[in-house]
Amino acid sequence: MTERIREFLRRRREDGPCLVVDLDIVRENYQTFAHALPDTRVFYAVKANPAPEVLSLLASLGSCFDTASVAEIEMALAAGATPDRVSFGNTIKKERDIARAYALGVRMFAVDCKAEVEKVARVAPGARVYCRFLYDCAGAEWPLSRKFGCDTGMAVDVLEHAHRLGLEAYGVSFHVGSQQRNVRSWDRALKSAGQIFRECAERGIALSMVNMGGGFPTKYLKKVPVVENYGRAIFRALCKHFGNAIPETIIEPGRGMVGNAGVIEAEVVLVSTKSAQDELRWVYLDIGKFGGLAETMDEAIRYPIRTPRDGDAVSDCVLAGPTCDSADVMYEKNPYPLPVSLEIGDKLLIEGTGAYTSTYSAVAFNGFAPLKTYHI
Ligand SMILES: *Cc1c(COP(=O)(O)O)cnc(C)c1O
Repeated sequence: MTERIREFLRRRREDGPCLVVDLDIVRENYQTFAHALPDTRVFYAVKANPAPEVLSLLASLGSCFDTASVAEIEMALAAGATPDRVSFGNTIKKERDIARAYALGVRMFAVDCKAEVEKVARVAPGARVYCRFLYDCAGAEWPLSRKFGCDTGMAVDVLEHAHRLGLEAYGVSFHVGSQQRNVRSWDRALKSAGQIFRECAERGIALSMVNMGGGFPTKYLKKVPVVENYGRAIFRALCKHFGNAIPETIIEPGRGMVGNAGVIEAEVVLVSTKSAQDELRWVYLDIGKFGGLAETMDEAIRYPIRTPRDGDAVSDCVLAGPTCDSADVMYEKNPYPLPVSLEIGDKLLIEGTGAYTSTYSAVAFNGFAPLKTYHI
């Protein structure tokens, strides 16, 4: 929460939940990443928050952009990034979208199998490709599945295939899992990266880049290490696995760039219990899983919540959204302590909501408007 957000919310008169993002915090976050890893280029993961205000601020600070679709590429270009600062980082692309990206000037593509390499070779001749390898995301609060990446042995074959088809086998990428609280997670991934570099070198292919992905956390309820600690651990791992031939490196922070810059204001619509004997309160808000809090799925992300009655005695509550979908319950397995004095009409502040909220919000499920957002 910042003074600017507090002041903005004090003056706001419209009804409905909203997200307010303080761009000064985004600026600070960018500078913190740039200082913590001075030799690493920052590719902001656009999906975390693609608001034009966020993208143009980051473009003006010198950021590059990791995109997953032609629409995201166009947004990054419209924000002032030149195409050499944009990577098409989705490993799952239609061939005609690769062609459109190429026509827009993009020359850097992620792949994780030979079929994807062949698409790139056909419509983006000479482009740079990097191969994503699988990494188990132990320690991440929002782990990634096996959806992206191939094993390290296959990565070597994929890169060799790219080389044979006239593409530039540029390097490798991985993602240690989102909201990764263990700074040492990059070490094992960089060990695999080093191994792929050596095996490619044995086949006469000189890779030059390691894309170390995102995963940098936002502070929710638990403590997280500061970015400087990640920077140091990553640099140590690079030295350990690459010696004095440290490659060009990239990071792709999403959550860590914008998460702590945003606050959602929501309203208590109803407080009730399920029986006269049951003391567990159900607190229904005007925002839920479909209104932007999708990352409460499986209760993975637990946001800090402030109320106007903080300081009063608390008791456990189930938190749920306003829609008629029974899946729209946020914290039930692990109830959330809120003041016993909480009342209908109270405004809650849900902190750390600058990432993965507005774009997850449904267009008008059950007649609830998409999350309103303000970037100040
Ligand atoms: C989503 C994504 C990111 C951002 O991850 P965070 O954990 O939010 O930092 C980075 N790289 C790729 C390829 C992604 O898909």
